[in-house]
Parts: sequence; C-alpha cells; structure tokens
Amino acid sequence: MLSFKGGPIDGKVRVRFAPSPTGSLHVGGARTHLFNWLYARHCNGVLINRIEDTDQERSKPEFERMVMDDIKTLGLEADESTDKGGGYGPYRQSERLEAYQTLAYKLLEDRKAYRCFCTQEEMDQKAQAAKAAGKPPHYDGTCTNIPKEESQRRADAGEEFSIRMIAPQKDYTLKDFVRGNVTFKQGMVGDFILLRTNGIPVYNFAVVIDDYFMNVSHVIRAEEHMPNTLRQMMVFEGLGWEFPIWAHISLVLGNDRKKLSKRHGAASVKEYIEQGYLPEALVNFLALLGWSPVDNKEIRPLNEIVDLFVLEKLTKSPAIFDTDKLTWMNKEYIKAMNIKELSTRIKPFVKRAGLDPNIKDEEWFELALDSVRGHIAKLSDIGDYLDIYYSDRFAFADDAKEIIASEDGKRVASAFKAELEACDGEPTAEWLKETQKKLKSLTGAKGKGLFFPLRACVTGRLQGPELTLALPILGKEEALRRVDLAIRQ
Ligand code: GLU
Repeated sequence: MLSFKGGPIDGKVRVRFAPSPTGSLHVGGARTHLFNWLYARHCNGVLINRIEDTDQERSKPEFERMVMDDIKTLGLEADESTDKGGGYGPYRQSERLEAYQTLAYKLLEDRKAYRCFCTQEEMDQKAQAAKAAGKPPHYDGTCTNIPKEESQRRADAGEEFSIRMIAPQKDYTLKDFVRGNVTFKQGMVGDFILLRTNGIPVYNFAVVIDDYFMNVSHVIRAEEHMPNTLRQMMVFEGLGWEFPIWAHISLVLGNDRKKLSKRHGAASVKEYIEQGYLPEALVNFLALLGWSPVDNKEIRPLNEIVDLFVLEKLTKSPAIFDTDKLTWMNKEYIKAMNIKELSTRIKPFVKRAGLDPNIKDEEWFELALDSVRGHIAKLSDIGDYLDIYYSDRFAFADDAKEIIASEDGKRVASAFKAELEACDGEPTAEWLKETQKKLKSLTGAKGKGLFFPLRACVTGRLQGPELTLALPILGKEEALRRVDLAIRQ
C-alpha cells in the first residue's frame, strides 16, 4: 500500500537541503536551500543541511566547507547541520554507512532486493546491447533469480556483488505539492543498484534512509530530481515507510530558456558576492525564482518573504534567471542600505580599487560614499565613482576638457576661482548655490553653460554626484587646485 504522510510528523515541519560537496554553492542550489529555509521559517519548523558525500571521487571536505560558508554568507544557516549538530545526525552521509548496509541487507532478506554478481564491464556491455537493440537500458535480469543458497555461497566464496533493488512493475503516482499528481508508468525503471560492490550506497538509496531517519516531512527540491523520486518511492515502499511530502520546484533557465549554466554568466554564490552583489539582494532575487507573492511586489525584506512563503504559491513554469534584474535589485538595495552598514561592506571593494577609505575620517568617507551610491549597481563599481574625491586620481575626462576649453568654460572657471579664493572658510552647499547665481550675472553663462564647466573643473567629469554634495566633500583647497589646473589646460 502506498501512503503519504499527508502532513508533518509530530506536527513539526522538517525540511532539508542536501548538497553534494563537489564545488562551491551554485545559484540553483542556493535557490533550493532558500526555499527550504523560507518554508521552515514560515512554519516554525526545522531546516537541516545534509552533506551527500557518497560520491567518493568528486566529494571533497574543502567543498563542504565552501558550501557551508556560502550558506552563512547568505545569512541562511540551517538549524541542524555538520556545523551545528542536532538530534538527528549524522549529517554527513559517509558517516551513516552502517545503516545503509543494514537496510540493504534487510531488503535482501525480504526478497525485495538481490545480490548482483555482474561486473561493471558486463553491465556496460548489456547497456550497450540494449541501446543498440532500441530497448530501454534496464538491467537484463541475469542475477534476478539466483537461488538464495547459491547467492549466499558465491558471496561467502568472496565473489564481488552489488545489492540490487527489484523495481516493482506497476504504475506509481506521486502526489507532488507543486506539480499535482504525476503518474510514472510501469516499466520506466529496471532493477537498480542500492549498494555498490564497495558497500557504498547510491544516492537514491541513501536519500530515502536519511530522509526517514531525519524525520523529514517535506522534500523541497529541484524538478530535475523527479526521475529519482520514482526510485525513492520504490525504496520507501520496500522498507515499509511512509512517503514524505514532495514539492519539486521549477527549473531555473537562462534568458534563452536553456538550462541555467555558466554560459549565461550565472556563477556561484561566492562569485556573485565577489562581484559586489549584496547577499540580501541575491536572496530577494532568488526567492522570486519559482515563487510569487500575491501582490507581485518584488523588493521586500526577508521577514516579509518568510510571512508570505507558502508552498501553494510555488509556480510550475520554469523561472528565468535574469541577471539584469538581479543587478537592478542590487542597485535598489545599495540605495536603501543604512550608510554605516554600506560603508563597512564596501570598504574592501574601495581598497581593491586602489583607494584608501581612511584618507580622512569616517564621517568624510560616509558623505563621499553617500554622494555616489546612487550611481553604482554593484559594490565593485565604487572605484569608478568614488575616485573623484582622490586628488592623486584626478584627471579631466575628454568631454570635460572640451567644455573647459569653450568660451563659457574659460570665463566660468576664472570667475569661479576668484569666488572660491574669496570664500570664507569651507564651501558649503548653500555657498555654492549663492555663488552660482553670482556667476550667472558675472559671466552671462546659464543652465548647462554654467553648470557643466563648474562640474568639469571640480570633478573632471560631466557625470557624477550633485556638485552641491561633491564640493563640500572635496574642500576648498583641493577644489582650488583643480580649478587652477582647468584654467591652465
Ligand atoms: N545531493 C543532491 C543534489 O545535490 C540532493 C538531492 C535531494 O535533495 O534529494 O542534487
């Protein structure tokens, strides 16, 4: 009898994100982790991070560390994990081998699985032959009916074997939270290996045992795992365990509607952070890949997303990873962030651009940063805007040079120099506003004819922060030096 738990065991939602430690965290994995995190938080449940490291060749402890650190960087730590421990460990599959082996032997005892003595070479040949004959690559049954005693004798004699699950030949219907009822027709899979000759379980076997022992109520994972789910249903059933609730979340595609990959510029979480995306913006953006709030409002704080995050609002259709949208969101987050917080976060990028954030005091740095933050989309853009405040970086851009060389330009620069020299103390925004009025009547220049030469002299560029902001930040001495340079061009 197939059965679904139909709700959280003991009333408690327990979900998991189970990365394989074969590289740093990719944005697709981060999205799956996030959905599990959001659902756990929404339900006051528990999120588990389980490390699926049974692929001995590709799994590496340093990758596990990287993934765990990436999750921390996003501010989305799990409640139970290899780092935090918990009451349902071990949280690394390689530490649960005994349980997998015991249960594989139980299935063997119960005649739901059998020893398969075929070598890898033989299996490859059989698969090739099936393919050539246009048949599905199912196991051909060579070892299916080896009598129990013979099987035992061969094993005792030291012959190598794997343990293979008998795939029941009937239809299976998966009740998926996102996709509704999905029927897998009889014959879609053949008998499949549970335990390899070296005693290491395959993913589809280990996952079932972990999900059971970790008391997982909901399995929220990517749609590409659907074919695995069929095998996992067979294992759950074989072991006499109830199914968890499955929710297969939509695929993430690139702008060309092909599966998201590096080709689309989509990178790992670490790479995005290094490029200057804020974790908050990345998380907000990822939340919208396959989930949509009722009001369609896109930018909102994480606690609001938690409140609204229900599985009923997961979407079936593929989500598009639109980097331009992520960049736009990042810009909005930069604009809205508390200036002290932004100052702390952006300093490594300022240094990376070769600028010293401590040339003056913190108050000066925050003013300078605040004046340009509206122009940057990524933290790494900062150098190209903040450098106007650094005298050793100062140079006139070509278009600024042209303006300065014009008739209006020359007149405005000379008149402005005289005003600056006469300025009592440091120039303020008010002083500049008054001075602009004065310059208008003194030089006859107005509008852009006045504004551009001033900006060109002081900042060396035609774009950038308001001059009323920039001039007080630069100070009289530096401004005068620049105006002098402009006059001498
Ligand atoms: N280790 C699997 C992966 O990285 C997780 C599959 C699952 O969530 O069941 O894709």
